[in-house]
Amino acid sequence: MSLQSQSFKGDQKLEAAAVSDPGHIMMGAIGGHVSKIQRGLMQLDSAVISSLELGEAQYGISTANAVLAYKQKRNIINRSYQTQADNIVGKMTMTTIDNEIFIKESADPDFIFLSDRQKEIVKADWRRSKQMLDVALRRLQIVANTTSFGDLLVTPRTLALYDTKLKILNVFHINTFTSDDFPIPPGVLETLRHRFRGMTVMPEPSNSPVDSINFSILFRNFTQLRWSLEQKVRKEFYTQSTFKGEPLGYYAAFVDATNPADSTIRITRRYFDEVIVPTMDNRAVTLAHERAHTVFLANGHPGTGDQPFCVAPHMGDPNVHNADQALANPYCYEWLIYSLQPDYDPGRFKGPECGT
Ligand SMILES: [Zn+2]
Repeated sequence: MSLQSQSFKGDQKLEAAAVSDPGHIMMGAIGGHVSKIQRGLMQLDSAVISSLELGEAQYGISTANAVLAYKQKRNIINRSYQTQADNIVGKMTMTTIDNEIFIKESADPDFIFLSDRQKEIVKADWRRSKQMLDVALRRLQIVANTTSFGDLLVTPRTLALYDTKLKILNVFHINTFTSDDFPIPPGVLETLRHRFRGMTVMPEPSNSPVDSINFSILFRNFTQLRWSLEQKVRKEFYTQSTFKGEPLGYYAAFVDATNPADSTIRITRRYFDEVIVPTMDNRAVTLAHERAHTVFLANGHPGTGDQPFCVAPHMGDPNVHNADQALANPYCYEWLIYSLQPDYDPGRFKGPECGT
């Protein structure tokens, strides 16, 4: 093998292009190797390649133009038979792209095919994800201390406590209310009714050991999820419209959940599209969601399916019916983290009635 970069090495078609003239890659080619060339050009030169060619991994006109521009910029010309650059990926081009990418990777080995600008965004989002999880964990800690197995005898009847317990109940179907929590102070109750629209009756205290056990699992899982953000995780920019033959739909990011040994978070163009993922916090919880798939071996989204609509994070999704589903559904972690942030505004979100 002659290619050095993680991005390219071991790909037989790219290896061939680097060493043999008949192996060159040109217009009309299609497949994973073309996608890698496209992403390499986007990473290095911010090449603009049509969505269709990216989605299909097709070496069409815009890919050919990007190759030509890359070669012209670096003066890659085979003087033995030509006087100007062409739009074919031959030995010199393949080797040059590989060298440039190899240098980029040496600086940031966990980032594959992400441009410098995209890397900075993802790194900031990752830090934000840790912060958001820290906040969520502190709030779960307060609940842990006031449940039947906790060590606080007197419940601090604060708005934050009730707010946290109601979100855990709505999103995860785990009732952490104890008799110490009642009566709810009238001022607090009024605010809760306003935040949690439609909740005219507050929950009864739970005496069920199942709730205690499920809350322990939830707390352990949040701790594990937070810790998983300290691990090295490969992030790869992904532009094809399918993965292993399956259409990707509208995913901003995804992991190969059928193969938990591969924790790579694949990030699509939608991740960087502010219409689809509007804020840093949305991206940050998306990263936590992808880690949840890997660390909890969660393959799929029980209850919600892959595209939940009209969810107000603090209300949970009406299609999730029990704690077992919720604990195995990365969306539920995403919603709880999001809704526990201090600047979360419940009024911004439409309720489960949306779309009816
Ligand atoms: Zn998911």
